[in-house]
Amino acid sequence: MKRSTAPIPSRYKRVRNRLCLFLVIITGLSACGGETEIEAIADEPVAVEAEPETAGAAEWNYENTNWEEISGAECQANVQSPVNISTQEAIEAELSDIRYEYEPFPMKIVDNGHTVQVYGTESSFITVEGKRYQFRQFHFHYPSEHTIDGKRHPLEMHLVHQEEGTSNLAVLAVFIEEGTADNPFLEKVFTQIPAQKEEEVQTEVQLMLSDYVPPSQAHYTYIGSLTTPPCTVGVDWIVFREPLQASEEQIAKFSALYANNARPVQALNNRRVLKTEE
Ligand SMILES: [Zn+2]
Repeated sequence: MKRSTAPIPSRYKRVRNRLCLFLVIITGLSACGGETEIEAIADEPVAVEAEPETAGAAEWNYENTNWEEISGAECQANVQSPVNISTQEAIEAELSDIRYEYEPFPMKIVDNGHTVQVYGTESSFITVEGKRYQFRQFHFHYPSEHTIDGKRHPLEMHLVHQEEGTSNLAVLAVFIEEGTADNPFLEKVFTQIPAQKEEEVQTEVQLMLSDYVPPSQAHYTYIGSLTTPPCTVGVDWIVFREPLQASEEQIAKFSALYANNARPVQALNNRRVLKTEE
């Protein structure tokens, strides 16, 4: 199976370049694929998403999600995430399988004040459309950020990957729905959440990232942004259709920490969402 030829990604690139030109003219912002952005992400692997430092030291929260004012961030751009995905409007495409090269690793975990985040391996990769991305971190949102035909799931996991040698990001989004049993893999994470916020804890708990993605490759894909400041644009989103399951208690455990850490859905504007063939 092959991904269909590239007109759509290159179209997005043109949109992004025009946007960056606009931002440079209007605000003097130089973080549009330039050195600033690359350095910010490469130097702060943990801070790819959800660390205020990368948002020009601006504080932000989910009570007020008008993040457009944050200086140095791209939250005002018109190609943002999350979005609502209309299953009818998504375009069927021949998308290549995502190739996983995941290795077990001892989990490092932090409650960073915006979410619970896990990292701790440099030896896990995915290949999407011929590009190889290194795993950086995964974290959770309650409720889900992406909606499917307006419907929200209780939780959404984001596995953030960065293309080798570039600042390009690909994020795997995995929905978690309520099931009857504890999810043993989520249990490994949720039992290790540090009591102290912003304290990174290196554990001996071994994780395997393939336990955190659905067995089915069926997914939607579109170009968007990070869903937290600095809202960096040009992110390749892969939203799996098949949810994982967690128990009511597990979902409640997370929502007791974060009753709402989901950014509202953003306008799709001229973007198209592709979906794998049925
Ligand atoms: Zn996220």
